[in-house]
Amino acid sequence: MSITFSDLGLKEPIQKALLDLGYETPTVIQQKAIPQILSSKDDLKAFAQTGTGKTAAFSLPVVEQTDEHSKHTQAIILSPTRELAVQIGKNIEDFSKYIPNLNVLTVYGGANIDQQIKQLRKGVQIVVGTPGRTVDLIRRRALKLSDVNWLVLDEADEMLNMGFKDELDKVLEATPDTKQTLLFSATFPKEVEAIARNYMENPVEITSGEKNQGSDNVTHQFYNITEKTRYEALKRIADVNPNIYAIVFCRTRRETQMIADQLIQDGYSADALHGDLSQAQRDSVMDKFRKKSLQMLVATDVAARGLDVNNLTHVINHKLPDQIENYNHRSGRTGRAGNKGVSIALVNRKEKGKLYPIERILKKKFVQTAIPTGKEICEKQLFHLIDKIEKTEVNTTEIDSFLPSIYEKLNDFSREELIQKFVSLEFNSFLSYYENAPDLNNISSSRDRDRSSGRGGNRTSNENMTRFFINIGRKDRLNPAKLMGLINEQGIDKNVEIGAIDILDTFSFFEIDTNYESQTLEVFDKNRPDFNGRNVNIEITKERKGGGRRRSGGRRRNSSDRSSGGGNRGFGRTRNKSNNNSSGQGSERRRNPRKNRRK
Ligand code: AMP
Repeated sequence: MSITFSDLGLKEPIQKALLDLGYETPTVIQQKAIPQILSSKDDLKAFAQTGTGKTAAFSLPVVEQTDEHSKHTQAIILSPTRELAVQIGKNIEDFSKYIPNLNVLTVYGGANIDQQIKQLRKGVQIVVGTPGRTVDLIRRRALKLSDVNWLVLDEADEMLNMGFKDELDKVLEATPDTKQTLLFSATFPKEVEAIARNYMENPVEITSGEKNQGSDNVTHQFYNITEKTRYEALKRIADVNPNIYAIVFCRTRRETQMIADQLIQDGYSADALHGDLSQAQRDSVMDKFRKKSLQMLVATDVAARGLDVNNLTHVINHKLPDQIENYNHRSGRTGRAGNKGVSIALVNRKEKGKLYPIERILKKKFVQTAIPTGKEICEKQLFHLIDKIEKTEVNTTEIDSFLPSIYEKLNDFSREELIQKFVSLEFNSFLSYYENAPDLNNISSSRDRDRSSGRGGNRTSNENMTRFFINIGRKDRLNPAKLMGLINEQGIDKNVEIGAIDILDTFSFFEIDTNYESQTLEVFDKNRPDFNGRNVNIEITKERKGGGRRRSGGRRRNSSDRSSGGGNRGFGRTRNKSNNNSSGQGSERRRNPRKNRRK
């Protein structure tokens, strides 16, 4: 007999709500966390990936024990992004829908704070928030945490990655010692361990599987590419999987937008999701993707965080993440809810070294996979087409009246000729696109050749970046977010791209698009900024080290930047008529098959 939610000790109204949601059996993390939190006040450290049901694992026991007749805030749940916070808030509303007086509020930056304050004054028992806004509300004395019984830190590793250490400290300070802290994280780098050590007392540890290990349902593949073949390989992967439903992860907002634009232009059903888009634009893209009217979502790690989609066929690492732990977050988006999934990494020679530490975390090997050839793609697409023809239902009433003249016109052709003609009509553009297409597995880049011949050393992580030294570091309470803020404040062109950031104890390094090298030097020289009482100065580093550095945070342009001008970005996929078909994955062509693509 399998365990049920009533076996876990949840009250009737919650069980009823779970039934409405279609939750039948508790997941592993739920089976472990729910009874533990219900029966003990001990702090809890839970190793749980996205997709394991962790939201319900911490929310259900909190909802169960919350006193809905008291107006005090009894639980504060912190989450790294607004999308994830909204998702958690919505889940809790669903779980508590048969508990009339239980109020949940989700607070996050960008939304009207007065409205949030008003809601809080009315009495909210469970607050879900992003760290920045939560601290803001504490400072304004609108959010009182002196009576909380539970503090939940969800995706603690991500919160720290995003530079929220100070905010976490402030929230932790505002809560009473008597509270129970529930820390959920997919990975436990030393920064998360430090939070656990400093703020939790002998926490009980539970895990939804082996620590940091990826889902068993995910196969990990890598494709050897060069910078010349990276994008083409991505397209071929999409082409050889006609039913693809994937997130394509990129590292920067600019790269995300560029790849999405290219894919859209090339007729694929794709769109971009990143932090430069307005909330309304992000909501619209996520909605289309959830409904499967988009097959490929090109996204940054942070933007994709709040997306709750269970049946992705693929996760594609267009570029591997800077921090290897994030690979786990990415690949965990597929192979969820019992489905199988494939996580793909496109790696050049230099990036290949990043696979080994990931394999160690996953305890799984990446399978080297050849970039599909034109012939393989054509074969796959052809059979996909035949399959579709076979399954197409014919609506005779609609076409009946036209049939006699059609039969007459085609009378002279044999059955074989007709099949050939129909297939060619649909398929010729594919064939001609891939006719004489090179085998990408045999293409090496001039950079690769430079490397193997011993030239081309001493680079930044990206040859278009200049690496700067800056005379402040961790001891000055600098973190990647603050450094990016400092750079953005200097008034360098808003399009500037910030690359890898290395924060060391007393100094740091950052990379900036080489086109802005002299402008960056000039503005810092002119502004002579001050950071926590220190005069800041920067220099271009003489020695440019290759890989092996620790990178923090993401790359970011000025957040006010809307360089691609959201409005005309092709939302709704106007360029691809066929994309308006929202019947889902595997629905009509996701591209206008190569109409104008090949020269
Ligand atoms: P999470 O890890 O909390 O993001 O949950 C992943 C997905 O699994 C969400 O779509 C949840 O709605 C769903 N889910 C969580 N627990 C269960 C359950 N016991 N039964 C069915 N679906 C679940």
